[in-house]
Amino acid sequence: MLHVAIVGSGPAGYYTAEALLKKFGDAVRVDILDRLPTPFGLIRAGVAPDHQSIKAVSRRYEATSLADNVRFIGNIDVGGGVSVDELLGLYHAVVLATGAPLDRKLAVPGEDLPGVIGSAAFVGWYNGHPDHAHLDPPLDVEAAAIIGNGNVALDVARLIAKTPAELEGSDIVAHAADALAAATIRDIHIVGRRGPYQASFTPKELGEMGELERAHPIVWAQDLPPPEGDAALEPGLRKVVTLLRTFAGAGTASTKPVRVHFDFFAQPRSIEGDGKVERLVVERTRLDEDGRAHGTGETFAIDCGLVVACIGYRTNPIPGVPFDPGLGRFDNRDGRIAPGLYAVGWSRRGPSGTIGTNRPDGFAVADLIAADAPSGEREGRDGLDRLLAERDLYIVTFEDWRKIDAAEVARARATAPREKFVKVDDMLTHVRGG
Ligand code: NAP
Repeated sequence: MLHVAIVGSGPAGYYTAEALLKKFGDAVRVDILDRLPTPFGLIRAGVAPDHQSIKAVSRRYEATSLADNVRFIGNIDVGGGVSVDELLGLYHAVVLATGAPLDRKLAVPGEDLPGVIGSAAFVGWYNGHPDHAHLDPPLDVEAAAIIGNGNVALDVARLIAKTPAELEGSDIVAHAADALAAATIRDIHIVGRRGPYQASFTPKELGEMGELERAHPIVWAQDLPPPEGDAALEPGLRKVVTLLRTFAGAGTASTKPVRVHFDFFAQPRSIEGDGKVERLVVERTRLDEDGRAHGTGETFAIDCGLVVACIGYRTNPIPGVPFDPGLGRFDNRDGRIAPGLYAVGWSRRGPSGTIGTNRPDGFAVADLIAADAPSGEREGRDGLDRLLAERDLYIVTFEDWRKIDAAEVARARATAPREKFVKVDDMLTHVRGG
């Protein structure tokens, strides 16, 4: 019997479990471990709450969890309660699928001022991640600057721009829905250090910015390159640029009270304010022929009381696991970290790609494990259970999670699919029948 532990129950973890089942059938036992009592990682805590169709992929992961030879074990901190070395002693293979939950730093003066928030924290806040539920971002301000030209920046801008009615049917947590309903932000600046041809938006997500009830996208025509260049673009980016041209063509005038400004060619240089954010200072950039941004020396300030940096993520290091601090992920070669130890998903590749991009990672690591042909007996889950009992660690099973799930669904607001528990203690109390 092949015993495999997967650390992390997000998409990368579940696609790995699925691939292992396909490859090894009844000859494998898979334990999926997660620090939280709840499974599905980024699906639950990262994907925007108003993108319920993307979140529906968790049903597929649920089917994997219910396979006889797969087990979900929540509320177990690998690197804390149990070490990676201990897992390597118990399982033939340990696959790290821990994602990239930490914010990359902007590295500009003023970054630590109150009101400057990373996207992991802001997204975690509106999605009810226990690490970020307490965030309390300043929303009683007139303007916000969202740094970055990727889909996370669009998610954050859209969530701030939407009306409560537009968030009906989402699973945004009540604390965030209430705070956003009371928000006074009228100008949202999406700040990109490069131009429209370099944006990482995808067409569907950008298109949503043109369909908001009370918000109007503003793009300056002079930021767009001559249209002759569009034909050579990759089709997705061409659609993005076409949308930006449509926004620019619609002009700046609108009866809608909220403006979403696309500020291209603006590199953040500092964040200023008296005890809290008051402005983001940016330097105008120009691109070289390879598309790299260079400062022109011209700076200007964007007045704002909130800055959300959506500039990418880093993996959380685990004691004893080789880590590449420059790249912000585990030090690995095509998924191999050390004998018996592998990485998949964002903790392997860095924070890029959609949910589905993780699927080939799962199949690739199943192939690596087969190629490495682990031999000898391992205790697998019996050994882990013994260790957990010795340490008196309280774990959450998939059946326990289903109780949390049912309770969240039962306590949902009228139009919402669920109201999440945002404190681990509340989840555990519920599991214990409290
Ligand atoms: P991303 O797509 O890599 O975008 C990061 C942005 O931050 C880029 O525009 C980058 O600019 C900018 N940036 C990085 N460092 C910067 C700095 N120091 N100063 C100013 N700007 C900086 O990352 P993301 O938006 O975090 O998304 C992560 C992944 O999740 C992406 O693959 C994304 O598509 C995916 N995602 C998908 C969805 C969806 O499908 N609905 C939703 C959310 C996220 P440069 O290009 O100049 O480096």
